[in-house]
Amino acid sequence: MKLARKLTLAILAVIVAVFALNAAERIQRDRRALRDDILRDHRSLSRALQVVVRESFREDGEQRALSLVEAANQRESLMQIRWLWVTPGKTLEQLNASQTAHLTRGGDVNLVSQKLGMRWLHTYAPVLLDDGRIGALELSESLASEDEILRSTVLRTALSTVLIAAIASVVTAGVGVWFVGRPVAALTEKARRVGAGDLSGPIVLQQRDELADLAREMNAMCERLEGEMRARQQALAQLRHAERLNTVGRLAAGVAHELGTPLQVVGLEAKRIAVGRAGGAHAVESAQIVVAQVDRMSSIIRQLLDFARKRTPYPARLDLAELAERTAQLVAALAARAEVRLEISGAPAHVNADTGQLQQVLTNLIVNAVQASTQGGLVQVETGVHEGGAFLRVIDHGVGIAAEALPRIFEPFFTTKDVGQGTGLGLAVAHGIVEEHGGRIEVQSELGTGARFTVWLPGLEVV
Ligand code: ADP
Repeated sequence: MKLARKLTLAILAVIVAVFALNAAERIQRDRRALRDDILRDHRSLSRALQVVVRESFREDGEQRALSLVEAANQRESLMQIRWLWVTPGKTLEQLNASQTAHLTRGGDVNLVSQKLGMRWLHTYAPVLLDDGRIGALELSESLASEDEILRSTVLRTALSTVLIAAIASVVTAGVGVWFVGRPVAALTEKARRVGAGDLSGPIVLQQRDELADLAREMNAMCERLEGEMRARQQALAQLRHAERLNTVGRLAAGVAHELGTPLQVVGLEAKRIAVGRAGGAHAVESAQIVVAQVDRMSSIIRQLLDFARKRTPYPARLDLAELAERTAQLVAALAARAEVRLEISGAPAHVNADTGQLQQVLTNLIVNAVQASTQGGLVQVETGVHEGGAFLRVIDHGVGIAAEALPRIFEPFFTTKDVGQGTGLGLAVAHGIVEEHGGRIEVQSELGTGARFTVWLPGLEVV
């Protein structure tokens, strides 16, 4: 149940309870006042009659006295008055033994009876006659008016309770929705956004209460989280850059090696021109060779520098097959030095990704594969699309991964390589990058037969 509704119900319950208690109390009070009234009337009338009737018995005899009682009965419209004889030792029909005894001792008795579906209040007043006989005056009055009061009080209370409850529910529901329902909905929405990773858009509540405090705390929490997230992202970016530089180091040896041959060619041709051995058309030919070799060297160095450069990630449409070709050029020298053959094959596979980051992933996978391969080995890079997902696969036939190492290879700093050879960061960084792109990395490997790493990414339609 909604909080505002619960509050409304609680307030209503309290209102109804207070009204009911109040009504019960009022009914009691009214009833008591009415009875006191009747009893007072009975007392004063019975006092007067007691004296007059006793006198009449003495002066005029029994008949006159009893007709006096009857006359009084006729006179009173609301009250019935009767004469009763009390036989000593015999309990009166209307009373119990102790009440009868009380009466014979000269005391009044009051009681309430039920007759013909109505309640009556009776007063018995004793008349001790001179001849020793005892009589009693019975004064009876209906309590119908008391029941009427009761009924009307209940009705009035019920009506006013319903009215107040209706007003109270409208007011509390309104207040509840405004001060509780609305801000809680805003807080819930904010919490949901925070849960989904969106820390923007602080909530502003136009009220000063605990909910506003909560909103302020939530905003402060988001700010702190944002700060921490930024710091984490920076640390991650630095780690990735460090890891990339580590790969550059590994590639540099190969690059230096690859630059050897063109440098030699350039040197020889330049020398030929310098010593004047290449003149005319020959000089032009030599210069063209120099230009071509310099272009090749620049391209190799540019690729390496490009890879090493730090830049902000920028996702764009990218073909994995093209990326594979480019990366193969980058690692070609390293593979050549290790005497490992690189084979690129497969179909175009388009994804939305950051080229630099994905190249870092692929370079790592290929460098690992080359390092795991034996001399004369083969590393295959495949690209393609399968069931809507684009994939990038690096297969080697090298040492493979032991079953106990397999669950740990993506852990940062997990390495089986010698100091200086591996940092244990390559796969951890690759895993982070692929996850950020909404993809995953699958590994299949057995010790001694090689390894197969597949990067799956959400594919884009070919346009
Ligand atoms: P590093 O290469 O610096 O050790 P990585 O995170 O790239 O760090 O790899 C972690 C470990 O995973 C490696 O030390 C190696 O034991 C294992 N590994 C990764 N790729 C392969 C592969 N193609 N063949 C065999 N083992 C591999």
